[in-house]
Amino acid sequence: MIDDIPPLPWRRALVIGLGCSGRESAALLCHLGLEVRAYDRNPAATAPDGVELFLGDPAPTPEAFAGIDLLVLSPGVPPESVRALARLHAPDAAIHGEMSLALDLLGRRWPGLPTVLVTGTNGKSTVTALTGAILSAGGLDPFTGGNLGVPLSAAILALLRGERRPPGSLVLECSSFQLETMNEAVLHPTDVAMILNISPDHLDRYTDIHAYAATKARIFAGLGEQGLALLDHEDPFTARLREQASGRLTLVGGPDPESPTILGSGAGEALQLGDGALLPRAALALAGRHNSKNALFALAAARHLGVSLAACEAGLRSFAGLPHRMILVREVDGVRYYDDSKATNVASVVANIDGFDRPYVLIAGGRRKDDDLTLLRPHLAKRARALIAIGESADAFAAIAEGVVPWAKATTMDEAVAMARAYAEAGDAVLLSPACSSFDWYRNYAERGDVFTRAVEALEETRS
Ligand code: ADP
Repeated sequence: MIDDIPPLPWRRALVIGLGCSGRESAALLCHLGLEVRAYDRNPAATAPDGVELFLGDPAPTPEAFAGIDLLVLSPGVPPESVRALARLHAPDAAIHGEMSLALDLLGRRWPGLPTVLVTGTNGKSTVTALTGAILSAGGLDPFTGGNLGVPLSAAILALLRGERRPPGSLVLECSSFQLETMNEAVLHPTDVAMILNISPDHLDRYTDIHAYAATKARIFAGLGEQGLALLDHEDPFTARLREQASGRLTLVGGPDPESPTILGSGAGEALQLGDGALLPRAALALAGRHNSKNALFALAAARHLGVSLAACEAGLRSFAGLPHRMILVREVDGVRYYDDSKATNVASVVANIDGFDRPYVLIAGGRRKDDDLTLLRPHLAKRARALIAIGESADAFAAIAEGVVPWAKATTMDEAVAMARAYAEAGDAVLLSPACSSFDWYRNYAERGDVFTRAVEALEETRS
C-alpha cells in the first residue's frame, strides 16, 4: 500500500521526542520507507522497529542531524532550541510537528477533505467531539481527533494498512504546541477554523498571553476566501485576533444578524444559527452557558459544511459528553457528585460553577498554573457551600476561601470526598473541579477523575 502516497520529497527523518506522537510519526515514516532516526533524552525510551535511536544526551547530537531532510518535533521538547540546532546542522530540512506532518501526508493522498480546526484554552475537546457527532449525523463521516483521542498519524497508518476506510471529513482539535509546529502550507485549504476562547494557561511556555494568543491565531492560516473563521464575541482576548482571521469572520454571540447566538434562558433557551434557524437548547444534554456557546461553534461549522438542520439537531441529541467533564458520577443522600477533573484552569472552573443551579462543595487544588486564583472568590461567594483544598496548592486554595466560604484541607482524595460529604446538604452538589493540573498526585487528569469516582462509588447511603 506504500504506492498509495505519491513519492515523498524526504529520505531521512529525525524524530525528536519518543512520546505517543513521536512514536506514531516514526511508525508512519518507517511504513512509508524513510530512513528514520529518533532522539529522546530518556535513555530507556523505545521506538518502533527499524528506527535508529539517539538516546540519553541532553540535546540531539550533530550526528543525529547529519544528512536529514525532515525534522519532526514532539510536544514536551521546546521547539526553539531544536530549531536552532537544525539551523546549524540541517538547515534545509523541512520541519513539522506530528499533526503538521500527518496533514501534509493526508493532503498528498486524499486532498480536499472538508476540514474543521478547533482551538482555544477551554472546550476544545468538547467542541471537537460535538462537531464530529453533528457531521456524522450529517453523513460526512469525519475523522475526529488530533489532540483528542487518536493522533492523526495513527489514523493515516491504519488507512495505509487498509485497516480503516478513508474519512469523508476531518475535525481536528489543535493544541497550542500543534499550532506552533504547524507548517502553515499544510493547512490549505481549511473550511472552518475556530478559536473558542483565550485565558491564561501554559504561560510557562509563552512570554505572555499575547504570544500565546498569536500562536492560537495560526489556526486561520489555511482559510481561503470562502473559509469560515469563528471567534467568540465576548472573549476579551479573541477580540484582538479579529484582524488575523482570514476568510469570512463570524463572531459567535455577536451583534450582527448573521452571528449565531443564545436566545432566551432556562427551559425556553434556543440556539439561533447564523441563517436565523432555531434549535432547542434542550437538544444538547450538557449543562451550562459555556456549553450553549460550544454548541453554537459546532453548529456554525456544520452548517458551513452543508449539514441540514435536522441532522444538526440529531447530532446534538446524540452527544452524551466526554469523560471527566462535568460527569454526574452518582447521587448519594440527595447530593449529586460530579467529576470535572478536566477543569485544569481557573477559567474552566468559573464557567462550570457559574452555570450551576444548586449550592455546591468544590474540591479544588493540585499543581498550580500561572492563572489568578483570586478570580474564583466572587464566584465562590455566590453559591459555594464550602471548599475542600487538595494537592500541592492546598494552602493557596485555602487562602482564597478564607473569609468567603468555609474550607478544609484534605491529604487524600478519599478524605476530600468524606469532608465534602460532611459539608453538603441534600439538594447540593459536590464537584471535583480542581483548577490545577493533576501531576502532583496523579499521572493525569483521567486518573484523578477515576480516583474521585471510585471514592464516590464507595460511599454508602445513610439517609433514607
Ligand atoms: P480542552 O480540550 O480545551 O481542555 P474540554 O472540552 O476538555 O476542553 O473541557 C475542559 C474543561 O473546560 C471542562 O471542565 C469543561 O467543563 C470546561 N469547558 C468546556 N467548554 C468551555 C468553554 N467554552 N469555556 C470555558 N470552560 C469550558
